[in-house]
Order: sequence, then C-alpha cells, then structure tokens
Amino acid sequence: MSEELNPFKNAQKQIDKCAEILGLDKATHSLLREPMRTLIVNVPIRMDDGSVKVFTGFRVQYNDALGPTKGGIRWHPDENLDTVKALAAWMTWKCALLDLPYGGGKGGIICNPKEMSNGEKERLARGYVRAIAGFLGPMKDIPAPDVYTDPQIMTWMMDEYSVIVGYNEPGVITGKMHIAGGSKGREDATARGGMYVLREAAKHLKIGLEVNEDNLYKPPSELSNIPDEIPKGKNAVTVAIQGYGNAGALAHLMVTRLFKNAKVIAVSDSKGGILNEDGLPYKKVKEVKDKAGSIVNYEPSKKISNEELLELPVDILIPAALENQITGKNANRIKAKIVLELANGPTTPEADEILHRNKVFVVPDFLANAGGVTVSYFEWVQNLSRYYWDYEEVYRKLDAKMTRAFWEVIKAMEEFKSKNIDPRTAAYVVAVRRVVEAMKARGWV
Ligand code: GLU
Repeated sequence: MSEELNPFKNAQKQIDKCAEILGLDKATHSLLREPMRTLIVNVPIRMDDGSVKVFTGFRVQYNDALGPTKGGIRWHPDENLDTVKALAAWMTWKCALLDLPYGGGKGGIICNPKEMSNGEKERLARGYVRAIAGFLGPMKDIPAPDVYTDPQIMTWMMDEYSVIVGYNEPGVITGKMHIAGGSKGREDATARGGMYVLREAAKHLKIGLEVNEDNLYKPPSELSNIPDEIPKGKNAVTVAIQGYGNAGALAHLMVTRLFKNAKVIAVSDSKGGILNEDGLPYKKVKEVKDKAGSIVNYEPSKKISNEELLELPVDILIPAALENQITGKNANRIKAKIVLELANGPTTPEADEILHRNKVFVVPDFLANAGGVTVSYFEWVQNLSRYYWDYEEVYRKLDAKMTRAFWEVIKAMEEFKSKNIDPRTAAYVVAVRRVVEAMKARGWV
C-alpha cells in the first residue's frame, strides 16, 4: 500500500494537523496517534464441505475517554489491521463530534461473505464473538454493522454474547434486527443523517436546495412509494453518487424525496457507472440493481467509469463506496460544490488540501456518515431502558444531533479563520477537544 493510500497513516496525518492547531502537549498527542488496545484473533470455522478454515479477525479499541468504544465490524477480503486502526480512530472523532458518550472502535474479519453460505456466516459471526467476548459488553465495547455485515449478523452476534453471559443482552451490539431489539430507523440512518447535514451545508453555501418538509421524517418504506418526479429547469441541483450499496442506494432515494429539486444524474457501483443528464429515477435504477446485480444495465444512460463520475460538473458529489477515491491525482478535476462523504475515508489528506484551495466544501466522513452511529446510540439507549421509540422520534432526534454538529464545525472554521482551516480539520478540532478534555478530566494526561 503506498503511503498516500495507507488509511492509518492518513488518520495520523489528520490528527497531527489538528494537534498543531490546538497546540496539544506531547503525551496527549502521542496517545491520540495510536489505538489503546488492538486485538488480533484467528478463528477456526467448520465450512459446509466439512473442512475447517481459519479466519483472521481484528478489533481495535482506539480510545475510550468519553465512554465505551463503539464502531462497526467489516467483513472484507482485503481487510487489514491498518484500515481497521484508521477506522477506529475515525469512530473516536465521530462519536465525540456528535457528542455521544462513546469512544471509538472498529472490527474486521478477512473473508469474502459473497462466497459464504448463511450457515458459514453464522458460525463465523459466533466464532468471532467467542474470540473477543471478554473485551465486549454494553459498558465496554459495542460493535455494529459496516461493510458487508448486516442486521442478521448483528443478531447472531448478540445471541452468542447473550449465551456466554447467561442472560439477554441486546445492548452489546447495535444494528440488530427489529425483533431482536434493533432500533427503528437504524437501517437508513447513515444516508438519512447525511441528508440532514447536506440540507445545512446547502443552506450555509447558499445552494438553493429546497427541502420537502412533508417527507423529512418518513421511513424508507413510505419514501419508496412516492413516484419519481425529476425536476426540470435551471433550479435543479445536480447530484452524483458513487457506490450503490446500502448507503448509496438509500442516498439516491432520500436525496430525491427529501429535497424537491435534487436531480441525480449519475450513479455507480463496483461494475461501473451510468450518466443521464435528464436525471436517473430511483425506482427503475434500483429495480435493475436488484434484478441484474448492477446499475450498469439501466437504460437510457451513458456508461461511465467510477473515476469519470467523480469528475462530473455536478453541484453535489456523494462518495458512498470505499476509501481513497479522491486523491492527489484527481482532486484538481473535482467540480462539485459540495462533497458529502458517506463512505469512510474517500478523500486523502493531499486531496483535502487541493479541494479546500479550489473552494470545494467537503462534509467530512465522520460528520456526513455519523447518522449510523447516532442511531446506534439511540438503539443502545432503548436497549438499556427496554423502552422503544417510533420512526419519527428517532429521525427527529437524529436531525437535531446532525444539525447541531454541523454548525459546531462551521463555528470552529470561523474560530480558526486566520489559519483558513478546512471543514475536516474544523470537525477534528471540535471532536479532539472533547476527547482531550475527557482525558484531562480523568487524569490521563
Ligand atoms: N459502521 C458505522 C460507522 O462507521 C456505524 C457504527 C456504529 O453504529 O456503531 O459509523
């Protein structure tokens, strides 16, 4: 992995920049540069053909000054410790920025879930929990879904943990199935949280994005019943979305239902991208994705590459795929006014500087996609109190948290105006200050 593309090196560069701005002392800075605890486990799993395969898994508990560590578990063939460490660091800043009583953590297993049966997945989920159970718990470390993990996997993990401790413990993990204590609204929380921040960013930049107040707190089942209406004329705000997994597809649905004049003109998935300047209707594109496995088969559209999608002259660009998509190489060609990072780590530090210079407003990942962990927090609160909320209550509380965090970032940009800091650095300032304050209060540094 080249230096620019090593996510942990990038996470460290970001913290170094912030430490300099805040004038942090050496001990505090050192503690923030490395995870407090890193677990590596090797889990033997019986496969369907009778053989045993050993899977390597990680769990990184980055910093727990503000509370138990929190963060997802990724299942990916290219998983590696440096990526998990970076993501655990970003979870720390994400939870702090949203003012959640959590530290940051992340887990990962090197595996290809696309090639595994349900039985194999269940055994892997349970085996992983057995391997790290001593380090988990609602007051210690609370995992959640991430790349290629889902509510079913979370529910198996919750069940295994409950078996180990000997009682039902839904608060050990979030993003579960509703019947097992999962919160309403958790499934679409990442994309939805992004939409609430996007609304505020558009307001801040005076981009005329018109909110559809009637739809603001409707669940996806209701939103997808609303027919596609593609805005015409000059006041349409154009959008391109990279990635059509959970977050990307929901972003397509929501951006077109929560805003009256948002026009999605390009989307992509791992097989490539499609462009239609007259707009791409959500329902039809989603149907093609579900039937054919990729959006590339949708007509009418022009085929484009994932790289070309990023460089389109749109108002809003939403990277919702993987890390390192906007780099020193292509940053100068990004034309969007707002980059809403629904993915984790899509922009490298080198690219950040170029975008800031070119006046592209980047809503950093740990703000843009913080809706997921925020509703995870609501799920945990509901689990601990055994009292469950309806969709609207979840969404209204999410909106309030996201909106507040956005304006705190803008305030920090103003506070450090003389240093001309970008939104990511400003978000770091807000988050790191909170973590440092907690570390100092606890007498660590
Ligand atoms: N994996 C998600 C994230 O990166 C959610 C974490 C959580 O819900 O704890 O924010």
